[in-house]
Amino acid sequence: MAILVYIENTEGVLKKSAFEVASYAKAIADQKGDTVVALSIGNVADAELEKLGKYGVSKVLNASQDNLKNFVNKAYASIIASAAKQEQASIVVLSNSFSGKGLAPRVAAKLDAGLADGAINLPTWNGDSLEVKKTAFSNKAFATEVISSANKVIALNPNAFELKGAATSAEIVAFTPDVNANDFAVMVKDIVRATDKVSLPEAEIVVSAGRGMKGPENWAMIEELADVLGAATACSKPVSDAGWRPHSEHVGQTGIVVSPNLYIAIGISGAIQHLAGVSSSKTIVVINKDPEAPFFKVADYGIVGDAFEIVPKLTEAIKNLKH
Ligand code: FAD
Repeated sequence: MAILVYIENTEGVLKKSAFEVASYAKAIADQKGDTVVALSIGNVADAELEKLGKYGVSKVLNASQDNLKNFVNKAYASIIASAAKQEQASIVVLSNSFSGKGLAPRVAAKLDAGLADGAINLPTWNGDSLEVKKTAFSNKAFATEVISSANKVIALNPNAFELKGAATSAEIVAFTPDVNANDFAVMVKDIVRATDKVSLPEAEIVVSAGRGMKGPENWAMIEELADVLGAATACSKPVSDAGWRPHSEHVGQTGIVVSPNLYIAIGISGAIQHLAGVSSSKTIVVINKDPEAPFFKVADYGIVGDAFEIVPKLTEAIKNLKH
């Protein structure tokens, strides 16, 4: 039996999440002696797809038709479901990314499958059921979901599963899916890149700032720190509400949920609604002038002091380390 993984790319380059879902599916496959088949949609070169072999994928279905270049939710969901049927894959794994969040329920409905989205670690088998641990209530709790249906769809949180190498070589096979015109009722005509910065949901390091920065004119130092670390920038809700930063940077219960390896919170109090979006970060560093700020309770490292003094020194120190 095969497990199907849907892998994402940005302009022909596989995303880190592609290797994460491959590693994750391989670990599930190893429990039952199954194989992993990946599905790529869009224009990705064979040499790029071959990299998936190192993460346990033995076959890659490559759907590279011109009309599939840009993400189309309905069409992509149909293609994933038809690939699962062709490969007789009873388990489909996707990333719980922006596009994965839209695709996973559609794919599950098409396959009459149970869905666990937001998975954070390897599921365990209980007979023919899979028990999947996931985050719930905006990361405030964990839940274990049991998927007992024959077909199963799992959406894995970005940065939740470590990449695992495997000595497989991936065979690349062209895949011409059967899609109908209705699947293209809504289409992406063009993609205009607003920024070249690291994408926030998938960033390994996030530098985030709050109202303690006093105003938008002070963000240069936040961006400089992010630049030297190769990090994405984020902010608290009041900051984006005030228009100091774009809403796409707002993290928390009502914003984006992130789980980077390192989250640096600068001038953010650590309200529960903010923590809901960042508490699964592996390491949290807090810089705040108030020693009683609630954020310190969840911090791995804390610096009590004025961000306007500390952040430039920190940036300088990291620059020096790099030389
Ligand atoms: P403040 O609470 O004003 O904190 C500023 C901090 O900066 C303080 O701790 C202060 O000590 C520190 N500071 C000040 N000057 C300096 C300095 N010079 N150097 C260092 N530190 C300094 N918030 C979110 O972020 N995300 C959400 O998704 C979200 N969703 C919400 C949903 C609901 C339904 C509600 C009611 C609220 C939500 N909020 C959310 C708002 C949340 O409750 C807080 O109000 C908000 O997170 C506070 O933002 P802040 O920490 O930037 O500002």
